[in-house]
Amino acid sequence: MDCAGCARTVQQALDHVPGVRSAEVLLAAEKAVLQVDDPGIDLTRVHRAIEQAGYGVPAAATQDRGASTAPGGDVSRRILRLFGTIFGAVLVVIIAGEVLGLFDWLVENVPWYVGALGVGTLGYPVFRQVAAAARRGRIIAHTLMAVGAGAALASGQWVTALIVVFFMRMGDYAERFTTEQTRDSVRSLTRMAPQTARVVDGDEERTVAVEDVSPGEFVLVRPGERIPVDGIVIEGRATVDQSAITGESMPAEAAPGRRVYAATIAQLGALRVRATAAGRDSTFGRVIEMVQDAERHKGDVQRLADRFSTYYLPVVAAVAATTYLVGGSLMATVAVLVVACSCAFALATPAAILASVGAAAKEGLLIKGGKYVEALAKADVVLVDKTGTLTLGRPEISGVLPLNGYSEDELIRLGASAERHSEHPLADAVRRLAAGRGIDLAEPEAFEAVPGAGVHALVDGKKVSVGSDRVAHASASASPRSESGTLLYVDVDGRAAGVFTATDAERPDVPRALDELRRLGIEHVVLLTGDREAVASDLARRLGLSYRAELLPEDKIEIVRAHQRQGRTVVMIGDGVNDAPALAQADVGIAMSAGTDVAVESAHVALMRDDWTLVPALFRIARRTMGVVRLNIGFTAAYNVIGVALAAFGYLPPIYAAAAQSLPDIGIMANSARLIRQERAEGLQPRAPLFRQPSADGH
Ligand code: ADP
Ligand code: MG
Repeated sequence: MDCAGCARTVQQALDHVPGVRSAEVLLAAEKAVLQVDDPGIDLTRVHRAIEQAGYGVPAAATQDRGASTAPGGDVSRRILRLFGTIFGAVLVVIIAGEVLGLFDWLVENVPWYVGALGVGTLGYPVFRQVAAAARRGRIIAHTLMAVGAGAALASGQWVTALIVVFFMRMGDYAERFTTEQTRDSVRSLTRMAPQTARVVDGDEERTVAVEDVSPGEFVLVRPGERIPVDGIVIEGRATVDQSAITGESMPAEAAPGRRVYAATIAQLGALRVRATAAGRDSTFGRVIEMVQDAERHKGDVQRLADRFSTYYLPVVAAVAATTYLVGGSLMATVAVLVVACSCAFALATPAAILASVGAAAKEGLLIKGGKYVEALAKADVVLVDKTGTLTLGRPEISGVLPLNGYSEDELIRLGASAERHSEHPLADAVRRLAAGRGIDLAEPEAFEAVPGAGVHALVDGKKVSVGSDRVAHASASASPRSESGTLLYVDVDGRAAGVFTATDAERPDVPRALDELRRLGIEHVVLLTGDREAVASDLARRLGLSYRAELLPEDKIEIVRAHQRQGRTVVMIGDGVNDAPALAQADVGIAMSAGTDVAVESAHVALMRDDWTLVPALFRIARRTMGVVRLNIGFTAAYNVIGVALAAFGYLPPIYAAAAQSLPDIGIMANSARLIRQERAEGLQPRAPLFRQPSADGH
């Protein structure tokens, strides 16, 4: 598929396959996503429908790794330059030909049928496309141009027809390269994906495709190699350049027990890794998949552009008919048909969005759809969770206050045992406290987590509740009010047993990031927390935010909804299980990098690196992207309106119209490519060098 029109053709063909409820065709990813009535749908019918529409399904369609062998960005750029040169040369010849009267001389002295033969030969691929569309009862952009060329030919102007056809072919090439370039932003990610892994099986070592590595197998990684799978280090040490996943340039340490990720690079050290996920299931595989699928979630602007291109052709046809009926000039009519018909409209948004999403992914910002780029660009409310989002999410227990005759150790043992299976950062703090004092934990029975409140569990046959006053009322009313710190109350069998005080350090990069958000004009930033009033107000005051405290997860969603009802575009930033519903409800949910899996899944943007400066960067990227989109659309619209007007009034000879027609594509491509380059310059960190020089102390 070379252009958005192709994608639409394939989509319509797929829509008509029995059993297909809806089809979505992704141009850049070269994918079709089908919603089917029956999962056992006959795929050969799907393939046949695609082939009948004039396209093909590559043999490796089930394995999109093939994309990585396609030509890279440099190649397409070189070809483009070549294309530009030819284009310019031909333009010079045409202008000279017109001015010097060469074309009139040709028309008079070369027999018409020779010219017609030339038009037929050069235009054959285009005419075939038009005919195929006509058989399916469809009109494509080329249809109108072909009619124009036909009309010129019929009136004896075969040179004009020849030039129109020539530029149609050139336009096709321009379109193809624009699409290629769009694909490139995804492909440059794909190229980082490891292809093979060295699996060790006893004493034997064999090289297999990454897709064939099963979880539990052992994989060897030599210094300087890309780690082929997600896994746990079993043996060896290395510094690992994780920039492929996180965009972070500082290498991380890998040692036995540590997690490593596919596509990251082991430097200065060999590792033996037990695989946990490979290929598409790996973190990197999912990143690629999400970037590819970013095309699926179209925003309003993009949908508008799509809808516009549907109505556009009939309008052009009507203008052409009017020109002929009113003005009576066949040449003016031909010029109208020729100048207005390019794919540029359909390309204006995806070209920019995909360039931007691809570039953002490389910096550690995973944006799951174009729609979220649009929403971010116009967002006016930002809601931020506290624990784990504004704070490091690594609280320390700073105070232990037993009540009713419990000993400190007994209180800690009961509390930590009850928290044994909780994912909450506070639970982790209690467990670390227990471990620090060498206290052995009991295995809790009947564990129940209450998101945003705490846990209940049976420990040694006693019902232990740990958390806020919502789950542990007795301790809450029995203990003295303290002013600072998060309080974790512990009730045992409904009686007060004690209180822990926890403090969690703020993330150091938050104040600067918030300042930057304000500078971007986002005034309305609200702290949302399940923690108590005193802690929330203290932090909110220091950061200059407004706040809402003691919230349950459902309260957080309700706050998101309330802002949305006021017509605001809401961004929610969070990390926890308790944030997940609000993240999903927000126009854009952003999950912190260390966030729980459910938060990362529910969110629309995932930060792959623990760095708050990514948040304002995200807003800047989104705004710039939408700026480029608007420029693309505005430019194309203005260009076409002016072009059609000039043509209709006879100021644009068909030959010039044909040349003019292929320019918007090039403009859009050049404009969108700026996004790929600019993001790097925007103060995000420089990329890591592939190999770091060992420092003096041998690290
Ligand atoms: P935030 O909204 O700031 O991320 P949460 O909603 O996760 O905070 O938690 C709100 C409050 O609920 C905490 O301050 C704590 O008192 C209590 N809480 C939640 N989960 C737990 C848990 N597993 N153990 C103890 N307390 C918890
Ligand atoms: Mg949280």
